Amino acid sequence: MLLGEIGRKSFRCDLKPAYKSVFPLSLKWGLLILYAMADRMISDVLTKPDVTLEVTLRPSLFSDFTGQAKVKERLEIAVQAAKQRGEALDHILLNGPPGLGKTTLANIIAKAMGTNLKCTSGPTIEKAGDLAGLLTNLEEGDVLFIDEIHRLQKTIEEYLYPAMEDFKLDIIIDQGPNARSVRLNLPRFTLIGATTRSGLLTAPLLTRFPVRERVDYYTAEQLQKIVVRAAHILNIEVEERGAEEIARRSRGTPRIANNLLRRVRDYAQVRSDGRITSEVADAALAMLEIDQNGLDEMDKRILEAIICKFGGGPVGLSSLAVAVGEEPDTLGEVYEPYLIMEGYINRTPQGRIATELSYKKLGIAPSTAQREFFK
Ligand code: ADP
Repeated sequence: MLLGEIGRKSFRCDLKPAYKSVFPLSLKWGLLILYAMADRMISDVLTKPDVTLEVTLRPSLFSDFTGQAKVKERLEIAVQAAKQRGEALDHILLNGPPGLGKTTLANIIAKAMGTNLKCTSGPTIEKAGDLAGLLTNLEEGDVLFIDEIHRLQKTIEEYLYPAMEDFKLDIIIDQGPNARSVRLNLPRFTLIGATTRSGLLTAPLLTRFPVRERVDYYTAEQLQKIVVRAAHILNIEVEERGAEEIARRSRGTPRIANNLLRRVRDYAQVRSDGRITSEVADAALAMLEIDQNGLDEMDKRILEAIICKFGGGPVGLSSLAVAVGEEPDTLGEVYEPYLIMEGYINRTPQGRIATELSYKKLGIAPSTAQREFFK
């Protein structure tokens, strides 16, 4: 990398990848796109989070962070110990499906350490110079948060190794015969990496994270607490049973719970007196086509495709993605983990298989051979 490449960029932690630009469309195409958008609610909620809402609702202290008790305890102890020793915190890898609080935890950790947090994400670091710019702008003890770290280019990843291990950065100045390598000393910083696919991380990168934590789906009770807290912050009147209904249908994910809360609030305001009761929440969620188990239209389309188009499976992720018109990554990171956890599909080395529960859900009778298979 050339020294001249080292750019200075400003980063905001609440920024997620930029979305597609809007351009003029014919009415027909506009309607088609609106139709497709309505069908992608859960993935939209997870891949295109509402930035302003997230900043407002994001807990900033460990004590406000609901659930993940063991992870929280271990991280709190690590923070306290590092502070007592007056050292930078060890590098931390946070792994788990989207919307479960990885970015939130990075914010909480930096605040608890009393340091700055600089945020970026794997795909936005395009050149080694981008990474060098980030690293050389850090101060002693700062936290660098790299979201989607599994999408970091391998060539860039290699610059990270000495930076993480020895707090050194090797850069090449000049080109051709004058090219020479220079070693820069970096401040002792903490890298927090977040990933939805830890399996895609290379072994050398994985081993450079002494602390590795997995965040898991939340229980309905924990989500209910999160909904009540968000309702309080947003000044929304919600009854306990109303919050429970939203929580139960939020796929174990705080980001979905917070977003559903706002959609239900709209419904309560227009169709009722603004108060979210259990009945209002139920009617609003039915209108949004989110069923009693939190499954939406896309989930059902996935199950239907496995059963009707691929004879119950096994089917590979990319064939399934083509069949339902979704990106393989979104399918694998957003939909599949929840469907597997809830027992609707099984993942085998040959591909995805629909379970008996899927047939029940869609009201489709399994063939005799499949019934035998389920026994
Ligand atoms: P991730 O980085 O894992 O995709 P985020 O940290 O961005 O998820 O969390 C999404 C939103 O969900 C946050 O803005 C926050 O409001 C909410 N949230 C996540 N985890 C919790 C939690 N444990 N308690 C309260 N709110 C949470």
